[in-house]
Formats: sequence, C-alpha cells, structure tokens
Amino acid sequence: MSGGDRLVVGVDIGNSTTEACLAVLAADGDVRWLGTALTRTTGVKGTPASTEGALTAVRRALADGGRRAEELDVVLLNEATPVISGLAMETITETVITESTMIGHDPATPGGVGLGVGVTVSVADLGEHPGDEPAVVVVPRGWDFDDVAAALNAAVARGVPVVAAVLAGDDAVLVSNRLTQQMPVVDEVSAVEKVPLGMRAAVEVAGPGRTIRTLSNTYGIATVFDLDPDQTRQVSPVARALTGNRSAVVVRTPAGDVTDRRIPVGVLELRGAGRTVTVDVDAGAEAIMAALARVQPLEDAHGEPGTHVGGMLAAVRDTMADTLGGADPGDIAIRDVLAVDTFVPAEVRGGLAGEIALENAVGLAAMVRTSRSRMQAVADRVAESLTTATEIGGVEGEMAALGALTTPGVQAPVVVVDLGGGSTDAALLTADGTSTAVHVAGAGELVTKLIDAELALEDREVAELVKRWPLAKVESFFHVRHEDGTVQFFDEPLPAHVFARVVVLTAEGPVPIGTRHGLDHVRRVRREAKRRVFVVNTLRALRQVAPGGELRRLDFVVLLGGSALDFEIPDQIADALAGHGVVCGTGNVLGDQGPRNAVATGLVAAFAGGAG
Ligand code: ADP
Ligand code: MG
Repeated sequence: MSGGDRLVVGVDIGNSTTEACLAVLAADGDVRWLGTALTRTTGVKGTPASTEGALTAVRRALADGGRRAEELDVVLLNEATPVISGLAMETITETVITESTMIGHDPATPGGVGLGVGVTVSVADLGEHPGDEPAVVVVPRGWDFDDVAAALNAAVARGVPVVAAVLAGDDAVLVSNRLTQQMPVVDEVSAVEKVPLGMRAAVEVAGPGRTIRTLSNTYGIATVFDLDPDQTRQVSPVARALTGNRSAVVVRTPAGDVTDRRIPVGVLELRGAGRTVTVDVDAGAEAIMAALARVQPLEDAHGEPGTHVGGMLAAVRDTMADTLGGADPGDIAIRDVLAVDTFVPAEVRGGLAGEIALENAVGLAAMVRTSRSRMQAVADRVAESLTTATEIGGVEGEMAALGALTTPGVQAPVVVVDLGGGSTDAALLTADGTSTAVHVAGAGELVTKLIDAELALEDREVAELVKRWPLAKVESFFHVRHEDGTVQFFDEPLPAHVFARVVVLTAEGPVPIGTRHGLDHVRRVRREAKRRVFVVNTLRALRQVAPGGELRRLDFVVLLGGSALDFEIPDQIADALAGHGVVCGTGNVLGDQGPRNAVATGLVAAFAGGAG
C-alpha cells in the first residue's frame, strides 16, 4: 500500500446476517470503497461462536475488493449490545364440544349441494323410517357406496323425504353420482358412530368455490333449529367455527353444547422506572401494548410462575442466559415486548371428525439486553486469525445512520429504521451529529412465525417462502394466475405436483403451499402479519426517537435491513407514514447495496471521520 493509506474492513454481526464492508482510507481522510460481503451469522450475535461468520464475511469482502488478508490494517467490529429476541405463542381460546354435537366438519370433497334439515337416522334403520319426517341419513363405516346409494334411492322411492347424508368413508361424490334425487352429502366423519340418532340435524354443502351461508350465520342456525334468544346466544361459537367452510353438519342434542372458552394464560408483569403494571395476557395484544405504554421505558417483564406466560418469558430468559455463556437468567432484563393478536387453527376438543376451529392466540416477542458484551472475545479471535488489529466501537443505530448517509439523496437529519430478523431498530441522527437509538422487539422472524401458525404450515422454510415471494394459482399445466390477477403462460409444462395448487413463485420456480386455503386467504394472512409486526413496530420506534414524540417532526426516514428487501413491507410503512407528512424510502447504501450493509459501512465512515 502507498503512503499513509490504510485498508480497513467494517463488520456488522447481526442476529441473522453478518455483513462486511472494505475500504481504503487515505491519509487526508478520503474513503475509497472497495468491496462488500454478506453471510449468515454463525451462532448467536456477539458470542464467540459468531467469530466464524465474521471471518467469512471479512474474507469475502477482501476477495470482492481484490485484496489479501495480509494487507489489512484494522477490522472494525460493531459493539453488539446483545439485543436478542425471543418468540412465543399461546392460544387463549379453546372451542370445546360437549356431548355429541358435531360442528365445523369440512371434508375436501363433499357431494351434492344445498341445505338439508331433518332427524338423524342410521342407514340400517332407513327401511322402517316413517314417511312423514325428513331424514338425515347416517352411514357407519363398512358400507359400500353402491349399497348406500341403493338404500337412499329405495327410501326416496317409498316417499321418505331423505334430505342429507353423513358418511364415514370418503365416497360422498361416488354416492352422490348414484342418487336419483340430489341432496347434500358430507363424508370423512371419522367418529360417525358417535353421531347421535333421532336428533335434529342440519347438513349444508356449498357449490364448488363457494362457502356455506346458513350454518355459518348465527340466525341461520336459529332459524333451522327454532332457537329462542338464549339458545341463539349459545350457538354463536358454532357459526363462527363454520365460517369459510364449504360444508358443515350441525347436530342438535339436548345437552350438547359448543363453548368458546377463554384459557387463562397468566398475568404479565411489566416493570418500568416509575411503576409496575400487570395485565392478563388473554386480554389480547391491544391491552398488553396499552399497559406497556404506561410503564415506558420498560426495565423488565415477568410472567406469573406456573402459567403459560410465565413459561414463555422464562424460556426466553433461559435461552439468552445459555447463549451468553452461562449468565444468570436473573441478570437478564427484558427491555421490550411486542404482543400480536393472531389465530391458529386447532382441532376442536370433543369433535367427531377432527373439526378445526380458529382459536385466538397471542404472539409475544421479547427483547433482552444484557450488560455483558462478549465482543472482545470475538475481536481477539478475529485478530488472531487474520493477524491484524481489531477495534470495537460505535452504537449500532448511529453506525446504521452513518451508513445510510451514503444513500444518494439522503442528508442529516435522518432517521433510519433497521428492519432485521429479531428486532426493529430506529436511530435519529441530527445535523450536528448527535444520535438517539432505540430497539423494539419483533421483526422478520415473528412475521415468518405468524404466517407459519396462521396457515398451519408447520414448516418454517415454506412460511419464509410465503413471506418473501408473491403467490400464484396454477390454473393449467401451461399457465398461472398471479396474485394481482394477471395471467402468465409457459412454453414448457409446469411440474405435475403444482397443478391446481396455490404456489409461491420463487426464483427457483413454483413451490406449492401445503394449505387448503385459497390464494386470497394466504395473501391476507401474509400482509396482515407484516403489517402487525412492521407497521406497528416502526411507528412505535419512530415515536421514541422523534422530537417530542411527534412523527410529523421527522423529515427523512430510511429503511434498512434484510426485511427492507421485502416486496411489500416498505410500501406498507410508507403508506402508514404518508399521513404524517414523512418522506420514507428504502436505503441504497453506497449507491448500490440497497438496504444492506449500512452498519458495516457506517463503522468505516466513523473510523475515517474520527481517526482518519
Ligand atoms: P439482522 O441484522 O438481525 O442480522 P437482517 O437485516 O439480515 O437481520 O434481516 C433478517 C430478516 O430479513 C429475516 O427475517 C429475513 O426473513 C428477512 N429477509 C431477508 N431477505 C428478505 C427478502 N428478500 N424479503 C423479505 N424478507 C427478507
Ligand atoms: Mg442488522
């Protein structure tokens, strides 16, 4: 290297991603940017295990800039305050069926169409059924579809009003095709032997692509069963559980009941500087966030021991203690929580056919900060491996703001919002160089988790794909309909396993989503998850750094971080801020890095400004 030129690399170890930025600093303070790199964080940010990822990032940035490790003068590492996030989710309602009422059954392929109301009769007893009472025929396991159709047709021929059928097997369509008179037929009722006989029942099947209208409406059920106002009140959870189904069966038993119970999840205790507030977690996200607002700034949070919420927070604390090298969990303070209302499909207790109801749930992201930074250990290992000097420095938010200033068109005062994996961080950098930074719990990981839970995917990888890529419906082997309604044709046939499925269109091609929900539903879940985490958190964080807490006093907001690469989150945030007269956009660090690499770039810029 010539004269006083120094080769430096800034390294930002994040929860998910480790980024590096390489530059040459001239003696006069001039900075020449040479290269960047990005790799997955190894282990937990700020712990010795994260050294490996840091080294990889440095080596790749060197390669990108065409330099060798021996030429390095100094590696700059961020002071990774261990701001680590934990996530937990608990259901707070439970639908319980007592006796043998059946609700919400939604088999994949019901037969027939319409609504049938009558009395339940076993197919074996159909021959003796009097001709004046409408019959809902119940078919136990072991009956052949030809025999079932013959029995139903014989009864109809005899003048018995057969209005519907409920089957154990999965041959509703086969039976329907053989009937002389059409009626709704529901199948896949696994516990069909528990369906009480001689009781009034209603069976509804909607046409393909439609949803039921009568049994998903409280007053529809009241009409069908002649209910008084008290009884009507009781059936409203039934109607709710049936909403959106293509078919349903409701049997009215004398003592049968469907209840919508709230599960006591426990009390959350929020301790602020001035006071302590407690809130029942089953009161929902809004109540929790209102309680949090009353104790700001939060110093610690506890869940009642022996309750779900107690377990949730203790688990977060324990994990943090472990990853921080055996710190005492008691020393770890929870500095922020984000509560999100969600709903998760859960099997109904007491159901006859694996009925699913959407239960309310609360998702909690908690953020932990410890006083014990172990970055020195990381720095020492990096220094040893690369035989170079290392320096730890800079508040992450301030560094991010300095990095964001390399975005064309951006000038201080500026507010950056770093949309990461675990936390959403905002920092205000004023024209005179002072900065204020805040971290709030909840970011990209929580969005993925909400999508996974609400769609019952039970597959984090697929949930991540649903988050990142637009949806489409594969309508034929040669064309798909995108979520915006446009149609795209292909020259080569699409793979058979995606035919007629809702897919995410990834860079590697279409990936089917394992859900029975339609495209619109998946899209709504995806967008809502993003809004409830990122719009809520951005507003929360901005209010904390804005002068006087007033958003309208902010000028430029620059979005950074992995989640700023999302195809709709930046728009959702910009929409929410537009009403406050704030200019908001996604950063473009160094003019070509997009929202990536801001902290690493800021570390180099700060070093050049201070020491260069
Ligand atoms: P950290 O700074 O905490 O290491 P990042 O800035 O790397 O985090 O952000 C990680 C988050 O960004 C993850 O939740 C990931 O799902 C999300 N993410 C990364 N790329 C994309 C993308 N193309 N679209 C949407 N989200 C993305
Ligand atoms: Mg980051």
